[in-house]
Amino acid sequence: MANKVLVLGEVREGALRNVSFEAIAAAKQIADGEVVGVLLGDSVANLAGELIAYGADRVVTVEHPHLKSYTSDGYSQAFLAVCEQEKPEGIILGHTSLGKDLSPKLASRLNSGLISDVTEIEGAGEDAVFIRPIYSGKAFEKVKIKEGIVFATIRPNNIKPLEKNASLTGDVASISVDVQNLRTIIKDVVRKASTGVDLSEAKIVVAGGRGVKSAEGFEPLKELANLLGGAVGASRGACDADYCDYSLQIGQTGKVVTPDLYIAAGISGAIQHLAGMSNSKVIVAINKDPEANIFKVADYGIVGDLFEVVPMLIEEFKALKV
Ligand code: FAD
Repeated sequence: MANKVLVLGEVREGALRNVSFEAIAAAKQIADGEVVGVLLGDSVANLAGELIAYGADRVVTVEHPHLKSYTSDGYSQAFLAVCEQEKPEGIILGHTSLGKDLSPKLASRLNSGLISDVTEIEGAGEDAVFIRPIYSGKAFEKVKIKEGIVFATIRPNNIKPLEKNASLTGDVASISVDVQNLRTIIKDVVRKASTGVDLSEAKIVVAGGRGVKSAEGFEPLKELANLLGGAVGASRGACDADYCDYSLQIGQTGKVVTPDLYIAAGISGAIQHLAGMSNSKVIVAINKDPEANIFKVADYGIVGDLFEVVPMLIEEFKALKV
């Protein structure tokens, strides 16, 4: 039974990440009562209306200069203060870098369990069952919380947000928290990867592997991704070979993505890579080896040289856009 469910609105560079709206939809499904959005930052109250438009019944904000950038100490102090006031029976966060760092700390302080990396929720209210991948995505388990706070993190791009309704209204209240004793102070945030579409939330990912052969070999993949409004990703093979930055790595030890379309070029399909992308809705693999493992998970396979196939795709998509 979750009479009140808190949802963290995750803010990056002044905007709410999509996963926040997906978390509201998840919270609505498990809540028997209200869904309360939580915003933490130095100046975030202006985003409350958007959480309400996506279904939050009301919003609580904590604003403090120390919350400008995420730190585990600062965010946990602020979120725990909200919990102290609100006494939630459910909590939903995105399974993002932030959520993965913050949620175990909160769960331990709240003495609750934690179901991480949820991709689907079956049933509703107290009958809700959380589905999450295990063994690097080879199997799924169903988890139900029998007592205590129902606390889960949800994988981006899996749970559909509710339709945005700008006419919805709700209370917005702020609480004051003396955020202090931070063991980490963020002085500056420098983005390594390009400022294009966020890889974890991208609807289309064009990923390259060792078969791309060089950093320059990634250029056609970038062009294709830009053309489709998607993001570029990579296998660890490509990152290890220094063809691209590790921030692009997809897989067991990289990012987990669930786009609508995943194009894998020159990637063999090692189990550790599949762990990060096999739940994509449609997978297209381009590989010159017809026996490559990636074809086992692909919906469409193109056996061929990626340096011929990718430029052909670019031409075709350009022609479609005209
Ligand atoms: P390769 O296996 O070398 O495959 C290259 C492919 O390119 C081949 O199939 C080849 O046929 C094809 N190719 C070559 N030239 C062309 C061409 N011109 N056109 C078309 N196709 C071509 N890997 C990850 O990706 N993500 C992870 O998170 C990850 N975590 C790991 C964690 C651990 C603990 C370990 C042990 C390994 C991990 N790995 C991870 C590494 C993984 O096991 C593989 O080594 C890696 O995924 C291989 O990368 P690749 O497919 O790009 O390279």
